[in-house]
Amino acid sequence: MLRSACLRRCALLLCWIPLTIVVIVVMWSYYAYVVHFSWLYIFSRPFSVAYLCLFHVCFGMFSWSFWKAVSTPPSFPSAEFQLVPSESPLYEQEHGDMEKSHIFLEITQNLPIHTRTATGAIRFCLDCQLIKPDRCHHCSVCQTCVLKMDHHCPWLNNCIGFSNYKFFMLFLLYSLLYCLLIVTTITPTFIRLWLGQLFDTCVKLHVLFLMLVSTMFAVTLCFLLIFHIWLLTRNKTTLEWLSVPFFSDGPSSEVFDVGVRANFLQVFGKKKALWPFPVFTSEGDGHSFPLKWQMSSNNTLAMNGHESHGYVLTSVSPEGVSVTIAADD
Ligand SMILES: [Zn+2]
Ligand SMILES: [Zn+2]
Repeated sequence: MLRSACLRRCALLLCWIPLTIVVIVVMWSYYAYVVHFSWLYIFSRPFSVAYLCLFHVCFGMFSWSFWKAVSTPPSFPSAEFQLVPSESPLYEQEHGDMEKSHIFLEITQNLPIHTRTATGAIRFCLDCQLIKPDRCHHCSVCQTCVLKMDHHCPWLNNCIGFSNYKFFMLFLLYSLLYCLLIVTTITPTFIRLWLGQLFDTCVKLHVLFLMLVSTMFAVTLCFLLIFHIWLLTRNKTTLEWLSVPFFSDGPSSEVFDVGVRANFLQVFGKKKALWPFPVFTSEGDGHSFPLKWQMSSNNTLAMNGHESHGYVLTSVSPEGVSVTIAADD
């Protein structure tokens, strides 16, 4: 018991190593760029001040979004998805799928759940003892179910999901801009170093490593940002890209895709002025999401002279099928 507790503590400590490495690299890049490059190496004061102003704007936005992505806890399913104490014994006592399915049908009849397991069962987490809302997954690192889980990021030591996906996207964007700013402004100095016209050993080392590290991160971040922009425009999470979600009528990879603009607004919100800032503006509560077929039926109603509900989830229930019980991750 004590041994497993110690191992768990060690594993938790190890999880902080990648984040610590990122913080050390960022602190060193700040010191090398501000002190050795902009202040001591650039002789022209106007250039030096311009570089420093631009750098600090970029560094400020990067640090803010980085902090928000690291410190914002992932959001968890609300209590209505949890098995209440009176329901848990009932569920555990029943051994047959049919008996269990009756319990789940009663619990889920008022919940906005559409996703299923590959066998058509309602998704249930044995660890958290809850019925998983759509797009919710259990994170084995955080040991909890996370709403609209995208992935667990080791570099941020945090789960990326509904509550912090916007912060993660802005973190990718501003860290890429931070690296590109360093690469573009030190390139002339790097060329001088390459031609053997730079004699200060300290500046040489800092410029060389700044160039290498920034270029390496810029290339990686560029691919990652493009990939997440593609996911955002199609309203997919990384987990849904890896494993297509199942519904009562089978698998579908495009059910949450309600158009590029609407997909973007779901994450960044409707207030344009707040798009560039890492403040929470995402739409919805993370438990239910507009579905493609609901949008089309709403549009049809609107075209027939009925009121359109826009993105509001209607109480349409496609569960006209028998439900079996299974637990998945
Ligand atoms: Zn769970
Ligand atoms: Zn996690």
